[in-house]
Amino acid sequence: MRDVIPAYSPTTYTYMAIYPIRTFGDPVLRATAVDVTDDAESLHRLVDDMLETMYEAPGVGLAGPQIGISKRIFVADIGEGPFAMVNPELVEVSGSWTFDEGCLSVPGYYWPIKRPGYAKAKGYDIDGNPVELEGDELMGRVLQHEIDHLHGMLLIERLSRRAKKQALRDIREDAMRSAGYA
Ligand code: ZN
Repeated sequence: MRDVIPAYSPTTYTYMAIYPIRTFGDPVLRATAVDVTDDAESLHRLVDDMLETMYEAPGVGLAGPQIGISKRIFVADIGEGPFAMVNPELVEVSGSWTFDEGCLSVPGYYWPIKRPGYAKAKGYDIDGNPVELEGDELMGRVLQHEIDHLHGMLLIERLSRRAKKQALRDIREDAMRSAGYA
């Protein structure tokens, strides 16, 4: 079950910026994002830059906080074209689906994470029109994952207590190893 995803065509600016992606440990990823109040032009520019950054990474979705912009916005493309959601909120979830989930802010890791399979979100498109997006499997997952970012929550928080402990241990050990401490 899936709504038609509103098409988004990037505007062409002379410069499109690729932002550095904030990674695990950066406090902006734990902050609660605020509503977007940008005017149309800056919003279009931001979305273009976010899409550029997401495709370059490459990733399936990217939320504002991941580029250090603590605003309630995300972009995504699950293989059916790019879309953006402004001030989104989850309004319905159901079912259950375990999927090997990753995040550009915790690069290189994938964990089997169980979440509701279906999700519906309400919000606005970049022109301020109300939109409702829903879907199961990857679409449902992206909606939940990206909206979590806007609440300052990373996918690690969705692991079981035990799996989370192990994940944090793995991340720390890998970081120490790459810093030459182990
Ligand atoms: Zn993420």
